[in-house]
Amino acid sequence: MPVAPLGRITPLGRITKVLVANRGEIAVRIMRACRDLGLVSVAVYSDADRGALHARCADEAYRLGPARSAESYLSVARLLEVLKRSGADAVHPGYGFLAENAELARAVLAAGATWVGPPPEAIEVMGDKIVSRAAAKSAGVAPVPGTDGPLSGPAEVVAFGEAYGWPVAIKAAFGGGGRGMRVVASAEQAAEGLEAAQREAKGAFGRGECYAEKYLSWPRHVEVQVFGDAQGHVLHLGTRDCSVQRRHQKLVEEAPAPGLPPGVAGAMGDAAVKVAKACGYSNAGTVEFIYQDEEFFFLEMNTRLQVEHPVTELVTGIDLVGLQLSVAAGEPLPFGQDELQISGHAIEVRVNAEDPSNGRFLPAAGPISRLKLPAGPWVRSDSGYESGDVISQHYDNLLAKLVAWGPDREVARRRLLRALSETVVEGVPTTLPAQAAVLAHDDFIACRHSTTWLTDRLNWSEILPGAPSAPAAVASPPSPATSGTQGPEPQDVDVEVGGRLYRVRVWLRPGQARPGRERDKGREKPGPRGAGPAGRLPRGGAAGGEVTVPMQGTIVRVLVKPGDLLEVGQVIGVLEAMKMENNIVSESSGRVVEVRVEPGASVGTGDVIAVLEEDI
Ligand code: ADP
Ligand code: ADP
Ligand code: MG
Repeated sequence: MPVAPLGRITPLGRITKVLVANRGEIAVRIMRACRDLGLVSVAVYSDADRGALHARCADEAYRLGPARSAESYLSVARLLEVLKRSGADAVHPGYGFLAENAELARAVLAAGATWVGPPPEAIEVMGDKIVSRAAAKSAGVAPVPGTDGPLSGPAEVVAFGEAYGWPVAIKAAFGGGGRGMRVVASAEQAAEGLEAAQREAKGAFGRGECYAEKYLSWPRHVEVQVFGDAQGHVLHLGTRDCSVQRRHQKLVEEAPAPGLPPGVAGAMGDAAVKVAKACGYSNAGTVEFIYQDEEFFFLEMNTRLQVEHPVTELVTGIDLVGLQLSVAAGEPLPFGQDELQISGHAIEVRVNAEDPSNGRFLPAAGPISRLKLPAGPWVRSDSGYESGDVISQHYDNLLAKLVAWGPDREVARRRLLRALSETVVEGVPTTLPAQAAVLAHDDFIACRHSTTWLTDRLNWSEILPGAPSAPAAVASPPSPATSGTQGPEPQDVDVEVGGRLYRVRVWLRPGQARPGRERDKGREKPGPRGAGPAGRLPRGGAAGGEVTVPMQGTIVRVLVKPGDLLEVGQVIGVLEAMKMENNIVSESSGRVVEVRVEPGASVGTGDVIAVLEEDI
């Protein structure tokens, strides 16, 4: 996206310049809202994202730090430095990263800037699921039946299961993004389930506290968008259904939630407003419910903009990011509950870089050699990438979101299928074939699905069998070196000077190499899908008696010790990477002579974790 000269700056109350503390599609989305409103946008980027789309399309871009999120997008100190240096007067955190971090919210306010989000106290209450369940209860909204405090040991899980019935979900109090949850089917699995949930929670969120909840086996995930202003008004903007999930993470979302009996959506809206009011909420938030057998229960509240906010935008006609900015600037909500109209239906698919073959949804990373997004009537695409950009293994692999609107669900569904058929992604596998299958499935059409439907009911070996096939040969975009005339050609190049990114135009002759951006590396080698790291994650490679890790991550378990005899295919450890626990498998047999890692160790791609010798 070329950076157009900035139009007239139109201050929104005290906001003129917004630091977007995020990356990928949501950063781009927020910058677009800023531009629509006449506000200046400031990007932050890690070393892995120096040439990333969000840095390219902001008005200004500043380096945060190394690729590792802890030293860049998760560093409050570094964000505060950029806030000061850029002169931004507001911070929008997007979702994920520090969006639900009260410390950042407080630091931004203490620096005299505007926090585009709820008050830090509300973030705190809702960030701890144990506390938020209690808050919902005292507001008169029932949470899923569960334990009231942190679990002290497996016996409590067993007691809860005996009292409320199995299965039981063990969930991390500070969990998010579908992580830190284990479902245990019986008393025998309680100890192992609790240990796994606590370990994942500790590793991912730094806090291991877990609680138990009754696990509903055929529910729908229905949530309510809420909005509050500084004047104390809180209202809701209708429902969304996000029941199509894998690994407790959403893949398809729609608004409004279809097929609910009369009165349920309204009751959920009222309940969501009660929960929000009870914690003194303002700005955008989402109250998530789980719905089964005509009953709904409070699941959690997300104190931020949601990934799937576009479906609500399309059925309400409201720019939710624009509204977040104006409410943060102190403006009252410009409409009342009675004035809100839900018009038609919208459906969204999250395009993740994952190989869905056989229903496995294996995370992938690598360069996108070609990306063609859909267009046409009532179709919207929000992407964080363009052709040549790289999906980094360091971050979430959400590549884009595709959304369609129609006067009813069926028209929206057909339009989205049409949009999917226009979309081309090459270089990395994506979830799109699975989503096309979902949208075309009779159960989805008739709304007979649930949160466990995609994983438990669909026959993936029939829908998407086998290993990913190589993509059809498609010409890669003409490289600057070979296209055009013989004379020098203008090329826009990003250069970083003193930690700030500038775009400059250089004139290069054909054949002359263009100063490299990381994204150009992908363009040089538009390899077949599955090349490089894509789709190859959970395998360890043994070469010359050494077992190496396939990608950067954290070792959570080591299952072998020196002296052990290994067979080909034996799991020797567990690596947490790309939001999943992956088995590291030995590709040769032999005796372990050395183990070089311990649980908790951070490892990089290719690091040797064990050495084997041939057993004779
Ligand atoms: P939504 O309901 O909007 O999908 P999620 O809870 O799935 O909300 O999270 C939104 C995004 O933020 C996802 O991309 C998810 O991977 C990411 N995310 C959520 N929690 C965390 C966290 N604690 N650390 C890093 N990323 C997170
Ligand atoms: P996160 O913070 O990771 O988003 P949630 O509590 O929102 O955690 O749960 C994520 C998903 O996990 C839900 O959308 C649902 O599919 C599933 N889930 C969570 N709790 C339960 C439960 N008690 N019974 C059945 N499914 C559940
Ligand atoms: Mg949730």
